[in-house]
Amino acid sequence: MTDTPHLTLAQLADAWQHLCATSPADEADPLVLDCAHRLASDPGGEHAHVWVSGLVTMSGYLAWRPGQTAERAALDALHAAAKALADRPCSHDNHPYEAEMDALEDEIWAGDHGLLTGELASPDGDTDTGRILCPVNIAGWARLAAEVIAPFSVRRIPVGAPRYHHSCIRTLSGIVNDYPYCDPHDVLTDEATCLPPQPTRGVLAGYLVTMNATCWYAASERITDPAVPAAMVKGVRAAVTLLSDHPCTHGPGEHPDTDDPDHLNRVGYLLRSPGGRAEFAEDYGWDDEDEDEEEPLEAWVCPAFLHDLADETLGALTED
Ligand SMILES: [Zn+2]
Ligand SMILES: [Zn+2]
Repeated sequence: MTDTPHLTLAQLADAWQHLCATSPADEADPLVLDCAHRLASDPGGEHAHVWVSGLVTMSGYLAWRPGQTAERAALDALHAAAKALADRPCSHDNHPYEAEMDALEDEIWAGDHGLLTGELASPDGDTDTGRILCPVNIAGWARLAAEVIAPFSVRRIPVGAPRYHHSCIRTLSGIVNDYPYCDPHDVLTDEATCLPPQPTRGVLAGYLVTMNATCWYAASERITDPAVPAAMVKGVRAAVTLLSDHPCTHGPGEHPDTDDPDHLNRVGYLLRSPGGRAEFAEDYGWDDEDEDEEEPLEAWVCPAFLHDLADETLGALTED
């Protein structure tokens, strides 16, 4: 059990830094709750950057299996900070958080955000303390962290999936449309084995959607090496065991349509990053200001939907 009230800020920052996806809840949750409560008590205050820094640093833990109370407290505090800070006047054309979105390929930001001290450790990063500690930058990081923990929960994320994800969509598009321009055996095997051990909800959903988009091809006579569908079956079975127990909150017909492999292929990679989800939401005409949209896009990360999708994928891959 972590005795947070007696730690100095330097000790707290060190403890945040040492948390990871697999940290035990009795060590991590008190740190998250302490940080979230301090942020929530004054979400637009002069120390907000410190507590946003803490929650961003702990987002690797929060995106995997945090205690429910800690997760809720972190999300509420991040949303409150984003709301309090995002519309403060600022004279900058852009902010450091935007430059890091392309690096969010597995969604968890491992680099330095500079929010604690106003300085970035990396030599080629932004060194302008005014921009790093600008309320709009702090709000941007708060939104990114909340969106990684709870996909599709946040508006006003800059649109655009990482470049690498767009290149995956292009490569796989050749396969699902039946004109591959790379060896589909290699591409599909790489896809099947690319899931990190503790994926975020967005990355896990994207993986299962991509496997479904490509399963018809892998199960067809176009693939001659049985090791390819075997790798996909193994990958999908392992991925299903990683689905969270978030309950399904959807009514009949609210789970997404999955008839079009080309669309699924695109969605499969857009689901894997905050900027990709913003790009996807833009297709659906999501408005930055209107929080009550009709289309429940978060159904794409619903574990019940993904269980059904995985069953369909496994059925196609194991059929004789
Ligand atoms: Zn600014
Ligand atoms: Zn559902």
